[in-house]
Amino acid sequence: MAAEIISGKDVAAAIRVELKEEVAELKEKHGVVPGLATVLVGEDPASVSYVTAKGRGCEQIGVNSYQHSIPADTTEEDLLKLVDELNNDPKINGILVQLPLPKHIDSNKVLYAISPDKDVDGFHPVNVGRLVIGEDVFPPCTPAGIQELIIRSGTETSGAEVVVVGRSNIVGKPISIMMIQKRVGANSTVTVCHTRTKDMASHTKRADILIVAAGVPNAVTGDMIKPGATVIDVGVNRIGMTESGKAKLAGDVNFAEAKEVAGKITPVPGGVGPMTITMLLKNTVKAAKMTIQK
Ligand code: NAP
Repeated sequence: MAAEIISGKDVAAAIRVELKEEVAELKEKHGVVPGLATVLVGEDPASVSYVTAKGRGCEQIGVNSYQHSIPADTTEEDLLKLVDELNNDPKINGILVQLPLPKHIDSNKVLYAISPDKDVDGFHPVNVGRLVIGEDVFPPCTPAGIQELIIRSGTETSGAEVVVVGRSNIVGKPISIMMIQKRVGANSTVTVCHTRTKDMASHTKRADILIVAAGVPNAVTGDMIKPGATVIDVGVNRIGMTESGKAKLAGDVNFAEAKEVAGKITPVPGGVGPMTITMLLKNTVKAAKMTIQK
């Protein structure tokens, strides 16, 4: 039987409806409107489109968006000054500096300058540390989206064998940490695979939940999947052009094969992708709520 398709588009839309209600309530009860500042250095087309989508998401749920587009030759010092101003601006609850930054700017220096209380991307080492010790933090957006998809697909995580393919700082490592936490939607037994893993299929075949973030098309084929498993394909690979001139995308999992074996599976596009910005919005609303509780 073909697998159930987990639509990230539908889940993201449902979460945005919930967030819109939360934002309306924040405004009504506390007079607070969450604010997200985005900082775009230069005009890289992909970055411009990500920042535009983030602005649109804010508008959709009633969050104020403050977009700072600054020239590619901005100095590191000036960028740090802007981050400092945003850190001290009470209208701003979340700060997002769009990566990649131009080569003359030290990205880590800029990301680490963002106040951990406004770090809605969840990349600041203070928040990474808090995530590891199981505190309630701003989870990094793509892993948070992955976990939401798993939970909302009705997949049992407690005691489940989770196998993660990939150990990057933005996807593989944080999602593995999140899935071992002692809490609802986690409590899993986690194995992490990477390019030095021996006999990867022996691991992936044990997975009740298989999360693949390798950045390599067909890294996982149908014969590597346990029948009935939930498969989350994080990969986004450009594999050519459509007739209309758009990039043709594929994930890291051979979808045609996997859907015949898996119980549930995310497609690419339309799976994890639509969740990432939604989780950024969720973190921004959370940041605004934190200011009320203080
Ligand atoms: P990355 O930094 O390149 O890391 C890839 C990881 O996968 C590395 O740890 C690498 O191992 C491992 N790997 C690569 N090929 C492998 C193979 N054949 N077998 C086992 N492990 C393998 O990539 P990333 O930033 O985590 O992103 C991964 C994918 O997710 C990319 O396609 C990216 O575009 C996509 N992505 C999507 C979203 C979204 O919103 N949908 C967000 C972020 C990323 P080593 O450490 O040994 O090199």
